[in-house]
Amino acid sequence: MVWEERWHPLREEWVIVAAHRQDRPWSGGTVEQEEEELPEYVDDCYLCPGNPRVSGMVNAQYGQTFVFDNDHPSVSLDAPIDLIPPPGIYRNRPARGIARVVCYSPKHNLTLGELELAEVEKLLHVWQEQYQELGSRPEIAQVLIFENKGEAVGVSNPHPHCQIYATNFVFKTIETEVRVSERHLAETGRVLFQDILAAEHEDGRCIIAENDSAIAFLPYFARYAYEVFVAPKATHPNIATLSGRELRDFAEVLKQVLVKFDNLWQMPFPYVMPLHQAPVDGGDYSGFHFHIEFHPPLRKPNLLKYLAGPEIGGGNFLSDTSPQEKAAELRAQSDIHYKHLPKQEIK
Ligand SMILES: [Zn+2]
Ligand SMILES: [Zn+2]
Repeated sequence: MVWEERWHPLREEWVIVAAHRQDRPWSGGTVEQEEEELPEYVDDCYLCPGNPRVSGMVNAQYGQTFVFDNDHPSVSLDAPIDLIPPPGIYRNRPARGIARVVCYSPKHNLTLGELELAEVEKLLHVWQEQYQELGSRPEIAQVLIFENKGEAVGVSNPHPHCQIYATNFVFKTIETEVRVSERHLAETGRVLFQDILAAEHEDGRCIIAENDSAIAFLPYFARYAYEVFVAPKATHPNIATLSGRELRDFAEVLKQVLVKFDNLWQMPFPYVMPLHQAPVDGGDYSGFHFHIEFHPPLRKPNLLKYLAGPEIGGGNFLSDTSPQEKAAELRAQSDIHYKHLPKQEIK
């Protein structure tokens, strides 16, 4: 079974080959109908408190968040080191890193948007701790925190959780964002993301939520219909340096976005949600501005945006929707989650 990193010489990026993960529970191969009413606890859920996992480990009887090492890691400090030398110009190396899972809540039937504001804030603290702890290890170059949510992105277990890949390389998208941010800073003396925020403020139509120190917007250049960025207004290269006040404001805006997403079609809204943070390889990333990106795969209920010729074949997105219109749809949504509204008010 191959488990290593292989260099893609044409894209200049690492590919993680983790063939041992084929049987992992995240594969989501069978799509079942989304249940309307889920219970708070499910006895065969590997994320619910007190339940055993495939490794034989038993989850703590946790009351809020719970962090553990992934039982089906894509990268690991125990990944094989005796690799078969590749032919010709090809390169490989051990898939060294740390993969973790963060449960947001002991309750199986909640989504991130349904957590109380204080619980979202607590989760942001956990993300700060994880970034600092994993980022301080010399073998780690990047801490990628992300949530895959919904069967549309291959997740069959609705228990609210995210994953962390702490890797020995910098992910390609972050590498690109770092490079252009550095160039912009060198050429203009300004932080690129601040110029993006200024442009969004100048137009104003795509701002989804905002308070003193945090903002959410559907960017002018969005690739997905409901793509939304959430960011602190001040430049922090990562989440770890946000003050308590900034973290609270960030939690508030993040929750507003999530509630609007769920309210849009009155269903749990699927997405891929990465935290874009500066690498932890010792470089100077003062021009990099931490943000969360939402990449929702749906254009309409049950209508997936398929990635095809232009996107997969060419690497550039073809967007079929107007960002201004989609932003207006999201802005119009209530900030109260539909599950908390009296039944008669639901459209
Ligand atoms: Zn569960
Ligand atoms: Zn980004």
